[in-house]
Amino acid sequence: MHRLTLGDFELSIFSDGTYPLDGGAFFGVVPKIMWSKKVACDERNYVTTGLNSLLIRTGEHNVLVETGMGNKLSDRMIKFYGQPAKLLENLSAAGVSPEDIDIVINSHLHFDHCGWNTVRDKNGKIVPTFPRAKYYAPEGEWQYARKPSERDAISYISENYDPLVESGRMTLLKGGQEIVPGISVETFRGHTASMQGIIVQGNQGSRALPPGAEAHRLLHPDGTAKAVPFPDHAPATACYISDLIPTTAHIDITWGMGFDLYPLDTIESKKRYYARAIPEGWITVFTHDPRIPWARVERDASGKLVAKEI
Ligand SMILES: [Zn+2]
Repeated sequence: MHRLTLGDFELSIFSDGTYPLDGGAFFGVVPKIMWSKKVACDERNYVTTGLNSLLIRTGEHNVLVETGMGNKLSDRMIKFYGQPAKLLENLSAAGVSPEDIDIVINSHLHFDHCGWNTVRDKNGKIVPTFPRAKYYAPEGEWQYARKPSERDAISYISENYDPLVESGRMTLLKGGQEIVPGISVETFRGHTASMQGIIVQGNQGSRALPPGAEAHRLLHPDGTAKAVPFPDHAPATACYISDLIPTTAHIDITWGMGFDLYPLDTIESKKRYYARAIPEGWITVFTHDPRIPWARVERDASGKLVAKEI
């Protein structure tokens, strides 16, 4: 069980399972002789890929970021990817029911990120999996998903979002918006044009202070704030950066996925992300890492980017 406290928020990782993905597609132009040192593949060249959702308990809201692959894949897609469909049972094992989720946020609308947004009921009708939840997704993604290119049309399954938009359950985001206090979205172009990272700032009083700062303000229930020593490496910010940096093996600026529609923008977006995430000690959540769902990305003495496990 991966769980941590981020200021006033509690963060936990819930997996929808793992699935096989072609290693060449996963690492784009990076030669196998290099990526195979970091990630094992089978005889068909498949690597094991995770499906990590992030649950944020703010005290007021239960916010679920990303809903995995779901259980509505076609037979043809099941042949490629299987259909692990573990998210609901993993949530249930931790005592979280679909009714407990207030808010669902999708970074983008590829099928492996929003699959459990909806399910088929016993009459075959598409209904929200999380009956009380408000859903959020990038507006640009939804526009694109209606007319995707031939290259990635297979990645968009209308049933995961169109019924929610039509019924008014899904709010479309422009980027740069705060959804609830401490949880906001920001567009990082590269994997797609409109993919958004979800930025979580757990302790309102310590937002601007990086780890190692001398003190941070702790807000007490009685409303008073007092300075207390900042614990070593206490995290203040986490970011679900989604397919911009899908696993710890993709942290290098130039290690993008073959799926990225705008690979040069992936590089620029990673630079923009690290320019804040590294000095401020952010926790990066890795959407597709089957082993290390979150870590702090740092530079080692030689300047190389490394993932420091938490
Ligand atoms: Zn994607």
